[in-house]
Amino acid sequence: MYTTLKEVTKTATELNFTVGAFNTHNLEMLPEMIEAAKEMGSPIIIQTSVDTAKYIGYSVLVSVVRTIADNEMVDAVLHLDHARDFDDIKAAIDSGYTSVMYDGSHLPFKENILKTKAVVEYAHKRGVSVEGELGTIGGTEEGIHVEENDKVYTKPADAVEFVAATGVDALAIAIGTNHGQFKSKTEVNIPLLKEIHAVVHIPLVIHGGTGVKEEDYPELINHGIRKFNVGTELLVNWTKTAQESFAETSINQSLRHNVIPANDVCKSIIKHKIGLFMNVDSPLNK
Ligand SMILES: [Zn+2]
Repeated sequence: MYTTLKEVTKTATELNFTVGAFNTHNLEMLPEMIEAAKEMGSPIIIQTSVDTAKYIGYSVLVSVVRTIADNEMVDAVLHLDHARDFDDIKAAIDSGYTSVMYDGSHLPFKENILKTKAVVEYAHKRGVSVEGELGTIGGTEEGIHVEENDKVYTKPADAVEFVAATGVDALAIAIGTNHGQFKSKTEVNIPLLKEIHAVVHIPLVIHGGTGVKEEDYPELINHGIRKFNVGTELLVNWTKTAQESFAETSINQSLRHNVIPANDVCKSIIKHKIGLFMNVDSPLNK
């Protein structure tokens, strides 16, 4: 069923697992992404950047995700990733997205609270979930590059105040991850995550998941990460596979010969990730 971030992360909290949030960049890869979740018996969060939503069309994305979720009986959320402009958030909510992220992490603390709170008020009236962000995640965020030295880790006390003041349904935290990292792996600050999890009682979100070591997943899940973003790994592998297919097929062959292998690669990556996200310690697996 087509559902919200609040619903799927509630289940994930109860059963101690994390929900994979995978970025789509086109309509081609989207059906196989949801099919992967169906085959794994897991919910899935499909997320788009504002630019991808504008490229495909907000309501087109809503129609596709809703139709597949309902037809295939998969719990799927459609989430807008890293929006900074209220008009983009409104476009997503009014078109039928079930979740939005307002990213005010670049703003002064009080301004981040006030703007996030305004988004929460608009979204909650319409049954839509909201993710906020505190601290800065490294790498490139919406085209703005964050240098290693400029990264600001999330402070637990700020997180408590932010959550209470805004009413967000989930909080993206900065614990050392970077967007776009795929050639190396990062050292996640697990002690900081534990400190945040001890005082913040809503689902926590990790961004830049491609750069996280898979052996760190259980610690992240056991300490409150309920939404786990993976974008770059799908993008890089889809593009690499498509490049190879396009190089091999003749120009008058159907495009599906180039696109299906790329979609299949994404599907197998998602199935692998979901297998880890379901967490062996979860009651689901006992
Ligand atoms: Zn992000």
